[in-house]
Amino acid sequence: MSKVKSSNLGYPRIGENREWKRVIERFWAGKLEQEDFLAQIEGIRLNHLCKQKEKGIDLIPVGDFSLYDHVLDTAMMFGLVPKRFEYSGGKVPLKTYFDIARGTKEAVASEMTKWFNTNYHYIVPELEDAVPALVDNRPLHFYREAKQKLDIEGKPVILGPVTFVKLSKGYNKDEFKTVIESFIPLYSEVLRELQEEGVQWIQIDEPILSTTLSKEEVALFHHVYARLHKAAPDIRVILQTYFEGIDHYEEVISLPVQGIGLDFVHDNGQNLTSIQMYGFPKDKVLAAGVINGRNIWRADLDKKFSLLKEIESYVSKEQLIIQPSSSLLHTPVTVKNEVGLEVILKEALSFADEKLSEVNILMKGIQNGKDSIQEEISSSQNAILLLNELSSKNRLEVNENMAKSQTLKIERKASFQERQIIQEKFFQLPLLPTTTIGSFPQTQAVKKHRLQCRKGEISNHQYDSFIKEEIHRWINIQEKIGLDVFVHGEFERTDMVEYFGEKLDGFQMTTLGWVQSYGSRCVKPPVIYGDVSYREPMTLKETLYAQSLTDKPVKGMLTGPVTILNWSFVREDIPRDEVANQIALTLQKEVEILERSGIHMIQVDEPALREGLPLKQVKWDDYLHAAVYAFKLATAFVKNETQIHTHMCYSNFEDIMDTIRALDADVISIETSRSHGELIQVFEENTYDKGIGLGVYDIHSPRVPEISEIRNHINRALKVLDSKQCWINPDCGLKTRGISETVEALKIMVEAAKQTRESLLVK
Ligand code: GLN
Ligand code: ZN
Repeated sequence: MSKVKSSNLGYPRIGENREWKRVIERFWAGKLEQEDFLAQIEGIRLNHLCKQKEKGIDLIPVGDFSLYDHVLDTAMMFGLVPKRFEYSGGKVPLKTYFDIARGTKEAVASEMTKWFNTNYHYIVPELEDAVPALVDNRPLHFYREAKQKLDIEGKPVILGPVTFVKLSKGYNKDEFKTVIESFIPLYSEVLRELQEEGVQWIQIDEPILSTTLSKEEVALFHHVYARLHKAAPDIRVILQTYFEGIDHYEEVISLPVQGIGLDFVHDNGQNLTSIQMYGFPKDKVLAAGVINGRNIWRADLDKKFSLLKEIESYVSKEQLIIQPSSSLLHTPVTVKNEVGLEVILKEALSFADEKLSEVNILMKGIQNGKDSIQEEISSSQNAILLLNELSSKNRLEVNENMAKSQTLKIERKASFQERQIIQEKFFQLPLLPTTTIGSFPQTQAVKKHRLQCRKGEISNHQYDSFIKEEIHRWINIQEKIGLDVFVHGEFERTDMVEYFGEKLDGFQMTTLGWVQSYGSRCVKPPVIYGDVSYREPMTLKETLYAQSLTDKPVKGMLTGPVTILNWSFVREDIPRDEVANQIALTLQKEVEILERSGIHMIQVDEPALREGLPLKQVKWDDYLHAAVYAFKLATAFVKNETQIHTHMCYSNFEDIMDTIRALDADVISIETSRSHGELIQVFEENTYDKGIGLGVYDIHSPRVPEISEIRNHINRALKVLDSKQCWINPDCGLKTRGISETVEALKIMVEAAKQTRESLLVK
């Protein structure tokens, strides 16, 4: 009998207890010899394969596991080591691999950026002076490992050439085709060797197909995949897409590959519609991603079964593979170890391991008929029903507030020009005011106290006193440095989203719900499961205390609604925009209370606004419109003299210039020190008339800048911006820096501002 297969696209690397992170960090710290390190890592890797096998997955991915990042792995396969690192060909040594990712004293790390619309960061490959060569057939290595050590017939996973080159930098756009051309022989070699080894299936990821592509780019796919097919005609390639529907369906299904992987979760129904309209070729398999690989909710197996049935009416059973919508890299490992969750909520969650079970159940259902999985279907539906019935999902006062807000005009009371005059009088700031982005160094002592408080080893009161001392210390430091606008330092916050998640209703923190963010760094996104509502002031105590210690204005510091939304796992029973607006209303309340208590500068950070941009350009307008609405809902009701600040940590915002203008914040601070040239261009081509602080030094490195460097940065900004609108600040928060380097750098920044101010007055 023909059999439906189950498959996985990628498994979380970090392990149930983040053991992966610990081993890697011990190795970095020199506490583990390379041999021991590699042995422990192998243990973790093999364990993950075993777990997937136990879950009944037929096509288990190999080669998706990484010591840092899979894009970096791909670059290393081809020996793409940037020139500033020592490298003399051959397999890239482990030390070089980590040096590229993390930088050394002599050589800066490669740039890191967000992987499509996720919060995962990849290392951007640098192709400038590289001559790519196949120096390590990674997928072959991991295929052999799985086979020899576990008797698992793995499915090697590699990042496809078109996406790889598209995500790389160091070549001109018009060279795109030529660069791809240089990679075809190398990919061909990889495939040929895999074919020789007897590999049956290989997954080639081309998520770029889920973005908006030009006709030429789509045509390039034909050229590339025809060549790869010719090189290894016997190997069965699944061309994998994810995170969106594909626009060029007809072209994609006619590519010379043996399988197409489609995301049926994040596509708004586009992929299914395409199948219904154009059918699916008889000679290919369809890898149907039906279980959400990016969220943490249990699937309604009845709905998923129906979806698969519909898909199955266009393909035969042996053509069908059932799988998650994307790699499970973006979900935590298992719900099993969660403690302290409300039973109803816990029952409604599904992390990576549980998702694989869901895939397996659906496979059985399609194979043996719906009756065979009726019990599992009912149990999933029951869990979802109970979750949806929770009273916290339907709070009357939240509904009322939402309805009320819809009747209001959400605009500042006066135009920016009018506010500017009022605020100038109100604050009496010097030209080029200096400030910071919010956080000051979170020392070991800060972390230790927080942990002790959580464990009950010290009382809340003791913890609060400690935080107060830190605030006091840093107000004095800011006073000495001579900054113009102060912050309290955010010592009470672990993370800018988690902190608010813990203080608002409708959120739940998990104990081990970690996901990889970059390298060994993991984040634990809060779960938004209910209506979001306000409990009590969240930032008032610390802000007022800080303000009581100084005559300088202290900025109130909040995380914006879009960032809280984008960095959480969000409920799916109501639209995302609605959740954002619920969050915005709670922030509105906080803003109001801060204002009423005498805080007249309030910063609402939106560092995640841009990364949430949909992959398809046609969806940008709606997203940006909703983002602006939520931001203004939180901030627009303040008095004219109250100055609203915002902060974003990226500089290439050409795409969202209109949005930034529309936020109508009085002051925005952005990261720029690493790409000044590009940014200046944006302001040459666009007008921006509100307050703006272009980050004058990079906070990602411990290096203390020279006065002249900062002055250069400021002068460059002054070429395109009016001195009256410019603020002077670092690129981002200083949380990860050491104390002495922070103080040094800020002193230099203040001095540079002073010198520039004087030179302007002379003119
Ligand atoms: N206010 C935050 C801080 O300084 C902003 C962090 C961020 O932009 N990611 O830490
Ligand atoms: Zn930032």
